[in-house]
Amino acid sequence: MSGSTITAGRLELMLAELRLPTVRRLAAQVCAQSDREGWPAHRLLEALLEHELAEREQRRLERHRAESGLSPDKRLSGFDFAAVPSVSKAQVMALAEGHEWLERGANVLLFGPPGVGKSHLVCALGHALIDAGRRVLFTRCSDLVQRLQAARRDLRLPQELAKLERFDLLILDDLSYVRRDQAETSVLFELIAERYERKSLAITANTPFSQWGEVFVEPAMTLAAVDRLVHHATILEMNVESYRRRSAHAAQPARRQVASDAAEPV
Ligand code: ADP
Ligand code: MG
Repeated sequence: MSGSTITAGRLELMLAELRLPTVRRLAAQVCAQSDREGWPAHRLLEALLEHELAEREQRRLERHRAESGLSPDKRLSGFDFAAVPSVSKAQVMALAEGHEWLERGANVLLFGPPGVGKSHLVCALGHALIDAGRRVLFTRCSDLVQRLQAARRDLRLPQELAKLERFDLLILDDLSYVRRDQAETSVLFELIAERYERKSLAITANTPFSQWGEVFVEPAMTLAAVDRLVHHATILEMNVESYRRRSAHAAQPARRQVASDAAEPV
């Protein structure tokens, strides 16, 4: 075995020990280039470490995206703002690009009937925040409530709530589908109280506040939850016709045309 093979082997081991997988992968190639081109030593060091940092950042974003539970294809680029005139694109872009609201633990509330794009828009916002290095968790409201309830039964609700702390934005999709039972809604209330003015929530709901009495059984609890949620919130009202239904309508005349063309005698 030659001296340089032994050195390369030791280098690989050290880089593995130091958890520098990118330097480890690229060392031979970049060192060879450096020798060929006569780089000063600091340039070689810089080049290798830049690669490591860039890939580390990339891996971090991929991990955040994987843990987020966001639908991969619901992005801002695929959202047709013209279909929802009541929502200002500029306002949504400001939420996606400026993160001061996350520092304040401010909320985003999206209201509207089914099919108007609430889940799509909130997912798209989540992706934009992940792109900017933030951590986001998307969950159906009813799933999270069940998880928290199970945690309460096992006397580990505080730990379960603490796990959600690491997310800058917690998205609760479809608040209205929470079953109306005291124990369930009180965990939801605890979550809202826990994050109040510290960590942001984004909530989508079919029902306006006036019907939240049906979500939180006790009127006092409803009032306190609504108060906390709206205190620092951007409210996006999406009162348009279902996008799905509209796309179906838009597609229909064409289909009828094809059908009548086919029925024409030749
Ligand atoms: P909601 O959550 O309000 O019930 P969704 O977000 O699930 O509605 O939207 C229903 C379907 O229509 C999804 O496939 C979504 O991607 C699409 N959609 C809704 N609104 C828009 C829009 N403005 N631009 C592009 N796609 C939309
Ligand atoms: Mg939805």
